[in-house]
Amino acid sequence: MQITKFLSILLFTSLLLVGCSDDDENTFVPDSQSSNKQPLGSSANDLLSDTNFKGLTVEIVSVQGFEPTATAINTFRSFLEERLFKPDGITINQRSVSSSGLAPFTIEKVKQIETTARTEFNEGDEIKVYIYFADGTNDSDEGARVTLGTAYLNTSIVIYENTLRNLSSNPNGPMLSTVEAAALNHEFAHLLGLINIGTSLQSQHEDTESRGHCNVQSCLMEAAIEFETGMMSMLDNGVPELDALCIADLQANGGR
Ligand SMILES: [Zn+2]
Ligand SMILES: [Zn+2]
Repeated sequence: MQITKFLSILLFTSLLLVGCSDDDENTFVPDSQSSNKQPLGSSANDLLSDTNFKGLTVEIVSVQGFEPTATAINTFRSFLEERLFKPDGITINQRSVSSSGLAPFTIEKVKQIETTARTEFNEGDEIKVYIYFADGTNDSDEGARVTLGTAYLNTSIVIYENTLRNLSSNPNGPMLSTVEAAALNHEFAHLLGLINIGTSLQSQHEDTESRGHCNVQSCLMEAAIEFETGMMSMLDNGVPELDALCIADLQANGGR
């Protein structure tokens, strides 16, 4: 199951499609880690509310040289603080590791990397999320159609940092911190069950052609946003935000 087309960006005369994909397959894991190896969207309420978990730890593991910008992490933290009830707080731990040498990446390879790179799993009333910043691209990228990141399990995300840097280095491309924060927020919102993958719709705003995405224009969860005049409009507008309908869905499932 694949979802693509998160952003589409017009650069010069070529249409550049930027996508994310979701994958909810399971793999065998030890019992102590099983609560972190569930299908995408199944921990939406646990992440949004303080019913079962009072705190959140995000473990960000980056390949050396592919770490996200501090600005993107600050934007991501604000996004989480705005939407989640976590009275014990939100902790973001960052660490760098050497390259896996496995690029380009299938989700199977990403899952394989997680078995060694991830060190944090749910503990007591602290829920843990793992985000891997990869030194390569998704192996289904084709030409101008590329994947920014994938939320592939209930608490697991991969961001294709090499792809983000390539986009950012284009003339009129987005600021790196903007595209990083957009990818982080978008993929994390899939963990929060958007759209209709673990968090029920309160109104009909589901993209009928792209599972897990929103049909409201300019929403963070929109499947495709086209910028006809290039990336300057994205720079001007910053990171896309959730629209009111997506926020209503999250609030109905225990979120802020
Ligand atoms: Zn998506
Ligand atoms: Zn929306």
